[in-house]
Amino acid sequence: MLHELILPDPGEPAYCARCGGPLVRQERGGRQRPVCPACGWVYYAKTAFGAATAIELDGGLVLVQRAYEPYAGWWMLPAGFVEYGERADETAVREAEEETGLVVALDDLLGLYFGADDPRNPAHLAVYRARAVGGALRAADDARAVRVFRPEEVPVEAAFAGQRAALRDWLAAQGTEAAPRTRQLAALDLAGPAPPVLVHAVIENPRGSTRRVRYDAASGRFEPTSVAFPWPLPAHYGYIPATLAVDGAALDIVVPDGGVLSAGAVIVARPVGVLYRADGDHKIVALRADGGTAHPAVHELAALPAEREALARWHAAFRPEVAISGWGDAAAARRTIAAAQAAWAAARP
Ligand SMILES: [Zn+2]
Repeated sequence: MLHELILPDPGEPAYCARCGGPLVRQERGGRQRPVCPACGWVYYAKTAFGAATAIELDGGLVLVQRAYEPYAGWWMLPAGFVEYGERADETAVREAEEETGLVVALDDLLGLYFGADDPRNPAHLAVYRARAVGGALRAADDARAVRVFRPEEVPVEAAFAGQRAALRDWLAAQGTEAAPRTRQLAALDLAGPAPPVLVHAVIENPRGSTRRVRYDAASGRFEPTSVAFPWPLPAHYGYIPATLAVDGAALDIVVPDGGVLSAGAVIVARPVGVLYRADGDHKIVALRADGGTAHPAVHELAALPAEREALARWHAAFRPEVAISGWGDAAAARRTIAAAQAAWAAARP
């Protein structure tokens, strides 16, 4: 269950909204929540609610290209978060006009979807079928571009799991459910429970390893190699399944976190940074998203300078010929993962 994992919540307060006192974590209603010991106020994290329109135009579907993170440059249905006190159908009409210039009339509900891959908030998404009744197509607000895609043209760089589920339903209604694009959109969800926010890490070399182990796809086994490490590995090391990196293999992930693991273990990890290598073979740095983490409140690698330094020293000793060209933050890590997910999905038949 997603809620048993550590989902980033940027809205979680450190201080009481009522009296300003520091909050502590306590169990309330079966979950650990921030609680004010002074006045008793409890912070209840909320799943956001979004509304979108599937606007059919000239035999295609209107998509907007995102101008901002997360998923900058990726495509989506015109959509926005439902404002406090606003009806979802009003949001859908308002966002359609703001982002596409089209005045729309809603027909019916295409579906109600959910995604936890938006680092700002997990969200439900109501998607309405709609048609243009006025206005003219032009990108505005937080859309970089807007265009009509015929079913076979829908891009694989489709932002957000809930949006992709809606696109698959729309494509299925066009009679193209067997089309490669429908399967590729589904393949974007296979890298974890909520990629790129929560990804699977298949561990090849657990923390403390002294000899390299690699997964051999041909035999389906985790095989020891003759490569010895300079000193015990300071992090669990493996790869994110259902991704394709520039070296033609799955994207690597290092997890400088707690717990005893063995080769072949699959854990859920939350990216907190990225180690950029001069040769382009970047490494995602992540923490465990389960009870095995030693850093439940850390969301950025910059908050763990000792762990980052240990990775840098170990890497310099193991691969002196390949320089570390820099470090990226959690958002950069998610961007790298999303690109590798799209590359893997696009390579599917
Ligand atoms: Zn208080």
